[in-house]
Amino acid sequence: MAVIDSDVLVIGAGAAGLFAALTAGQRGRRVQVIDHANKVGKKILMSGGGRCNFTNTGTTAANYLSANPHFCKSALARYTPADFIALVEKHRIAYHEKELGQLFCDTSSKAIVRLLLDECAQAGVQVRTDTAVEAIETIADGWQLRTSNGVYTARSLIVATGGLSVPTMGATGFGYEIAKRYGHSVLPTRAGLVPLTLSGKPLERFDGLSGVALEVEAQCGKASFRNQLLITHRGISGPAILQISNYWQPGKELRLDLLPGTDALTWLQQMKAERGASELRTVLGEILPKRLAQRLCEQWLGDKPVRQFDERQLQTAASLLNDFPLTASGTEGYRTAEVTLGGVDTAKVSSASMESKLQPGLFLVGEVLDVTGWLGGYNFQWAWASGHAAGQAA
Ligand SMILES: Cc1cc2nc3c(=O)[nH]c(=O)nc-3n(C[C@H](O)[C@H](O)[C@H](O)COP(=O)(O)OP(=O)(O)OC[C@H]3O[C@@H](n4cnc5c(N)ncnc54)[C@H](O)[C@@H]3O)c2cc1C
Repeated sequence: MAVIDSDVLVIGAGAAGLFAALTAGQRGRRVQVIDHANKVGKKILMSGGGRCNFTNTGTTAANYLSANPHFCKSALARYTPADFIALVEKHRIAYHEKELGQLFCDTSSKAIVRLLLDECAQAGVQVRTDTAVEAIETIADGWQLRTSNGVYTARSLIVATGGLSVPTMGATGFGYEIAKRYGHSVLPTRAGLVPLTLSGKPLERFDGLSGVALEVEAQCGKASFRNQLLITHRGISGPAILQISNYWQPGKELRLDLLPGTDALTWLQQMKAERGASELRTVLGEILPKRLAQRLCEQWLGDKPVRQFDERQLQTAASLLNDFPLTASGTEGYRTAEVTLGGVDTAKVSSASMESKLQPGLFLVGEVLDVTGWLGGYNFQWAWASGHAAGQAA
C-alpha cells in the first residue's frame, strides 16, 4: 500500500485541527488532515444554534477553566478575536453581535466550515474523512500511522480530536489515549456547558413548569452568571445554567437570585405598604412569570395577601427570592454537553507551541487539552488560537 508522506499530520478535522492545518500549510509545510467522521467540522455546523458563535470580542484568560489558568494566555495573546474577525471579513461572511461580545454568523455556520476548507485548499492542505487510525508509532524522523485508508508518515503529529461531548458527532477519547501513551496525565473529565437535572422533592416542586424562562443570577461557589434560566422536564437549563454547570459538581449547592438587581425585601415592604390587599402571587406575577410566581407562593413563600406577612415572614420570602437554594442531582451528560471539562494536563505541554514536552513532534490542540471556555464563543477562540500556535511550530 502506498505511503502518504507529509511534514505535518493532523488527527481531527474540527475547529482546532483545521486551523492548525491551514496555519502550517501557509508556512509551506505539506499537511494532511484525517478524520474518522464522514464530514469535517460537525460541531461547527451544529454550533450556536446553526449560526456558530465563532468568537467573543472580550476574550481573556479569565473566561477559561483549567488546572493551570495561565496556560492559555500566550496562545490567546498571539491569535486574538480581532485576527479571526479579520479572516471572517476577508471571506465576506456577514456577522452580528448577539450580546456580551458574542459574534454569530448572520446566516449559517456552514460559512465558517467553508472558510476553513477554502483556507486549507489555498495552503495546499489535504483533508481526508472516513479515515480511522489503527496504529500509531514513532519512527526515526517522525511518525507513522496505519489507517483504514493507508499508511501516513509525517515529521509532526497534531492531535486535535476534541473532547467527549456529543459522541454522535464523532467525539471519542482517542486523543487522551495518545497523550497517555506518551506519558501525559489526563485530568478527570466531566460534561460542561450542560443542563442540570433535579430529582425527588426539588423536581416535584417544579413539576408542570417546563418551558418557563426568567432572568436569574446563578451562583456556585465563587462563580456567578446573570442570564436566562429555563425550566425543563428534567431540571434546569438556559445560558445561566450552562455557564454555572462548568463550576458545579455533585454535592455543591447552587443559589439562584430570582430577582437580580432588585432588593427583594425593599420591594416586598413597598408592596405591603402600597398593595397590601393583593395576593403575593399577584404582585410577584407582575415581575416573574405568572406560573412560577404562583408555584413559589404555594410551595415556599406563602399564599396570602401581602399585608398578612409579618416582617420576619417578609425577610424569609425575600431571602428565598434573592438567594434561592437548589440542589441539582446531576447533569444531562455528554449527550448534550457543549464541552468537556478536564482533559490532557497542560503541565507537560508548551504554552507557546502546544508541543509535548515529553515527546518531540507531538502537538495537542483544542478541547482535548484541559482548557475549557465559558459559553459565548470562547471555545472556538481557544480552538483557533491553540491551532494557530501549533501550526506555527509544527
Ligand atoms: C451543540 C454544540 C454547540 C456549540 N456551540 C459553540 C459555539 O457557538 N461557540 C463556541 O465557541 N463553542 C461552541 N461549542 C464548543 C465547540 O464546538 C468545541 O469547543 C470545539 O469544536 C472544539 O474544537 P476541537 O477542534 O478541539 O474539537 P472538535 O470540533 O470536536 O473536533 C474533533 C474532531 O476530531 C475527530 N475525531 C475524534 N476522534 C477521532 C478519532 N479517533 N480518529 C479520527 N478523528 C477523530 C472528530 O470527528 C472531530 O471532527 C459547541 C459545542 C456543541 C456540542
